[in-house]
Amino acid sequence: MPAPIIVWFRNDLRLSDNPALTAAAKQSAESGAPVLPLFILENEDGDPWPLGGASRWWLHHSLERLGEACAALGSPLLLRRGEAAGVLGALIRETHTGCVLWNRRYAPALTARDSAVEAALTERGIDVRSFNAGLLAEPWTVEKKSGGPFKVFTPFWRSVSASLDPPHPTRPPAALTAPKTPVASDRLADWRLLPTAPDWAGGLRESWEPGEAAARERLADFLDGPVAAYPTERDRPDHDGTSAVSPRLAFGEIGPRQIWHAARHAADAQPELAGGVEAFLREIGWREFNHHLLHQAPHLPDRPFNERFADFPWREDAAGLRAWQRGRTGYPIVDAGMRQLWRTGWMHNRVRMIAASFLIKDLLLPWQEGERWFWDTLVDADLANNAGNWQWVAGCGADAAPFFRVFNPVLQGEKFDPKGDYVRRHVPELDRLPARWIHKPWEAPPEVLKTAGVKLGTDYPHPIVEHDAARDRALALYRQRKAKA
Ligand code: FAD
Repeated sequence: MPAPIIVWFRNDLRLSDNPALTAAAKQSAESGAPVLPLFILENEDGDPWPLGGASRWWLHHSLERLGEACAALGSPLLLRRGEAAGVLGALIRETHTGCVLWNRRYAPALTARDSAVEAALTERGIDVRSFNAGLLAEPWTVEKKSGGPFKVFTPFWRSVSASLDPPHPTRPPAALTAPKTPVASDRLADWRLLPTAPDWAGGLRESWEPGEAAARERLADFLDGPVAAYPTERDRPDHDGTSAVSPRLAFGEIGPRQIWHAARHAADAQPELAGGVEAFLREIGWREFNHHLLHQAPHLPDRPFNERFADFPWREDAAGLRAWQRGRTGYPIVDAGMRQLWRTGWMHNRVRMIAASFLIKDLLLPWQEGERWFWDTLVDADLANNAGNWQWVAGCGADAAPFFRVFNPVLQGEKFDPKGDYVRRHVPELDRLPARWIHKPWEAPPEVLKTAGVKLGTDYPHPIVEHDAARDRALALYRQRKAKA
């Protein structure tokens, strides 16, 4: 039998539109070589961004689905753990593999690791090939007319979308040839990716169905109507108006090319969806832009893109940080967002901006603290998107909101959650408060609070900072910074 081909799955946990798998299946059909689908749970020693808890939960279920799908095609998914080069080396020796294929990933530490693996395997005479499954335009393929990387989103997206002609997504292979002798694999359960003591994942289980099939179904449902209202609905946390594809994109259960083609197809078939589709694809464009930024500034997750903010005098406030993390700041829209995140592993984008602004500007705590918390708790945690957005809110990123723009949590709540339904869903102790007071319970007359059964300071906290004073404090620091520049 010809030498096997390893397909090393990473954050591309799908069978369709998976160029590495498609190439392997084609080569196998021509040569009769077996295909070994492989996932490695890599050593995270020294990794500055080891998988967060919510991501580990998602990964477990996504691997379960992928494992079933590979088995149905004929060649089971192999699970191994350890240092990637060592695991691959051992598997190659065991199975006499001649070729290793993978789809590229873009986080700086991972690209460095992949380059080292590629060099080591190539030196051993292994045929190594990598593909693009994760972006519409890989960072090194995009540059300004005058040369150099883009730092501003609008011209970036104009340039990318003008020349965009992504290949049509491929279908999953019809079958995969298995090796003659079964190859040993770890048991997924032994990796202990799921929380047990305590099992905090109940809200995740209620909220999500990981896996390629569910990802495609969710996208199809969204494009079959809701996308039309996306330009306005995307700002309403009280409605279910966004696609919820982010964790699926983070794990590669669906790829941006599939999204691009499906969205374009929907707009062609139903012209009334066109405006919504444009707005939706523009957000996919922000994801591309953040990867572009991470590529040009590998320190993006750790240090400000704009060096002027490098020594910003952040406060230290462990109690404030904890109140923010637990959704007990006394600002209902912030607390609703932080509790939605804790319970479901996801937070609405508008509320992510409000909650992030509160941490950075009202509490004057470093954006990296928020970034770390999101990294651990989001099911869609993505290094480029998380860092890019935190820096955007902090005002220290490329093409960021200016530092002097401070979100007012009361006005934001009243505008985007006008009836308070979102707050009621996630902060049940305020459930009976009328809409007029739900975003500022401390201003409610005592008899209103009494009727609603709310004792401030007991059932629900008083605001931990006074917003107007906190805003002035942040602006004063910003002015000092500006004067120094
Ligand atoms: P939709 O509105 O349906 O958008 C479709 C897709 O477009 C998203 O899945 C996402 O891939 C992309 N997208 C949408 N908004 C943005 C944006 N602002 N920046 C970049 N891409 C975007 N997104 C992540 O995927 N991972 C993160 O770790 C992450 N951290 C964030 C941290 C902060 C402080 C903020 C303000 C935003 C963050 N976002 C992150 C961006 C955004 O909130 C989520 O992508 C979005 O809420 C996901 O929900 P959706 O799939 O329903 O989005």
